[in-house]
Amino acid sequence: MSLSFNPDTVTIPSGHHIGGRFVELPGEKIAVLRPSDEQPMRPVTDGGKDAVEMAVAAAKSALAASGWARMNPRDRAKVLFRFAGKIEEKAEYLGRLEAMGSSRLVAGTVTGDAIRTAGVVRYFAEYCDKLEGIVTATKAETLSYTRREPYGICGAIVPWNFPMITAAWKFAPALAAGNAVVMKTSELTPHSLLALAECAAEAGLPGGLLNVLNGWGHTTGAAIVAHPDIGIVSFTGSTKTGTAVMTLAAQSGIKPVVLELGGKSPQIVTRNPGDMDAVATRVANAFMVNAGQVCTLASRLIVDRLVADELVDRVLERTKQIKAGPTWDEATTFAPVISARQFERIDQLVQETVKQGAEVLTGAARLEGPNQGNFYAPTVLANVSRANIGFTEEYFGPVMSVTTYDEIEEAIAEAQHPIYGLAASVHTQDLKLAMKVADSVEAGMVWVNQHGRDPEFTYAAGGWKGSGFGKDMGRAGIEEFTRQKAVWINYL
Ligand code: NAD
Repeated sequence: MSLSFNPDTVTIPSGHHIGGRFVELPGEKIAVLRPSDEQPMRPVTDGGKDAVEMAVAAAKSALAASGWARMNPRDRAKVLFRFAGKIEEKAEYLGRLEAMGSSRLVAGTVTGDAIRTAGVVRYFAEYCDKLEGIVTATKAETLSYTRREPYGICGAIVPWNFPMITAAWKFAPALAAGNAVVMKTSELTPHSLLALAECAAEAGLPGGLLNVLNGWGHTTGAAIVAHPDIGIVSFTGSTKTGTAVMTLAAQSGIKPVVLELGGKSPQIVTRNPGDMDAVATRVANAFMVNAGQVCTLASRLIVDRLVADELVDRVLERTKQIKAGPTWDEATTFAPVISARQFERIDQLVQETVKQGAEVLTGAARLEGPNQGNFYAPTVLANVSRANIGFTEEYFGPVMSVTTYDEIEEAIAEAQHPIYGLAASVHTQDLKLAMKVADSVEAGMVWVNQHGRDPEFTYAAGGWKGSGFGKDMGRAGIEEFTRQKAVWINYL
């Protein structure tokens, strides 16, 4: 069966999803365009403070009426399993909505993103009755223990590059831990998250436990961060916005934040990396996937001088083998950039990098071929010094720089970034070198012989330094949405 579809036939949800239903509220209209052809989809409105107030009120009543935080955790799990089942049932619809509205390709959204989103909900449903405290060592006739309690209402703010999956990494653990959620979609990709909220309501999640709002960051997003009844904010986005979120959270009652931010991740290839064809494919995919709109994108290739020419030639070959096209065509293998604005941002940064001394090995221009949409050519640059803006700034597009090294110590030193510390990888058959890199590199995630997350749910993802703190997924991912209470009992 073909996954390709006609985007004009897909039903697009409208409004905010508050209290278990779609709600239209007045507010500034925000146009939403399909990145593949710049055609308008249904606009949304900026919810602002009023929508946040309404969502917080709905969350409070839902928590009180359903007893969500205090119910038997197995009963919470049952509801979340139904929610996961509903997402699977509607995977084709959700996958189409995701593909038409974002840079995600339909070849992956139905069987990948949608099913994986259901998997995330299922994974955290299984955690409902597995959150445990400890009994601490105390003197006789006393008992001291810790327990993990939900915050009440959690705020979540997400970007546009993997809309459903990134959202599920936040709402699923928050709900499983007994919280309600007030979430803001990205203004560029709102619709699939509204459809997910509808799935939750259809599955019987009490209305008000998962509220999905539309709006700008500086209005609706800031209102979520500042709201006194929202106990924690989990944010994924750029380091610049993360800084603003953390500042506002500190000014709004010392509110805890989880920050999943930008990156400038290196991949190191040693002189004995194994099958060079397989390595070239991995290296090329690691900067071209989703047209480079991946936080962990391998934007810096650091390769042993002895194999550099051979590897770079093979990577350049692969940049010619892509098929750019609409996200709703199953045959498309290379995605558009999300918006004209983001396209301009990438191009300006690339041109500035070149002005500052970089050499263009391929790309650095609009992709020839598709004449609509924002397709940026896969771009490989050499001679990008550490002082170059192309080294310091995140492209968030299909751009990679190449640097060579002679000794592994040089490669490790080159891998360290003054600002970011999200992820790193090393491709090698030498276990000693692999371990040396894994032990030394300053990054929250390290991969050996791959670059990028597996669809595995247990792997806790998160960055160091300017790439943020806190974790998404894994046990740590649900613990973020709980706070520890220490209880002391004298039973004299
Ligand atoms: P962004 O920072 O521009 O926006 C992210 C979200 O924050 C959006 O919903 C936006 O509306 C909102 N926002 C903007 N200003 C705000 C404010 N003042 N207060 C509250 N919310 C505000 O990021 P983006 O362009 O949507 O996404 C790309 C960035 O996200 C890249 O830097 C990428 O590396 C990062 N990212 C990180 C991860 C990770 O796990 N570390 C994952 C995906 C994306």
